[in-house]
Amino acid sequence: MKIDLTSLKEGSTEYWEEQDAEGLELPQEEFTLLETLQAHYTLHKAGKNLKFNLEASYRLRLTCSRCLEPFEQSFTEKALYIIQIGTEPWGEEKALTTEEVLMLFLPTTELDTIPILRETVLLSIPMKPLCRPDCKGLCPVCGVNRNAETCNHEEEKVDARWAKLLEIKKQLSKG
Ligand SMILES: [Zn+2]
Ligand SMILES: [Zn+2]
Repeated sequence: MKIDLTSLKEGSTEYWEEQDAEGLELPQEEFTLLETLQAHYTLHKAGKNLKFNLEASYRLRLTCSRCLEPFEQSFTEKALYIIQIGTEPWGEEKALTTEEVLMLFLPTTELDTIPILRETVLLSIPMKPLCRPDCKGLCPVCGVNRNAETCNHEEEKVDARWAKLLEIKKQLSKG
């Protein structure tokens, strides 16, 4: 969606948008956008001050980094941007993070929501997605999915005193 900021009235204006992966020009390699992304925006105009509030809901199919199985996860991302027109030092649309409020530099008076939505989706994807927090992963010896199967390589029950050490060792080897 492209919003003409010059014709914006004082106060708040709301917008709704629906986009699919193609519309968002999302790469479909490590994840898949399921159904369509739903976005809700509120633009606040007070004189020369412009604030852009974004809320995006979507569902992704990701691949678990431990067991390598695909799984689905829902996201609701919120962001607040302060819009600056024509003062960008790079000549291109860029967002700089300052704690919770983001600065959005626009080269023109037109706000294109597509790159913002695309960035929102890409940044929300965890570095190491997990199908569930306690995913047991694959057996390093025979490769079975330990969530679904047991093999003969299960770790033996260990003394509680050693469990802590093993945990540390595991963390180190994950590196
Ligand atoms: Zn998993
Ligand atoms: Zn095994």
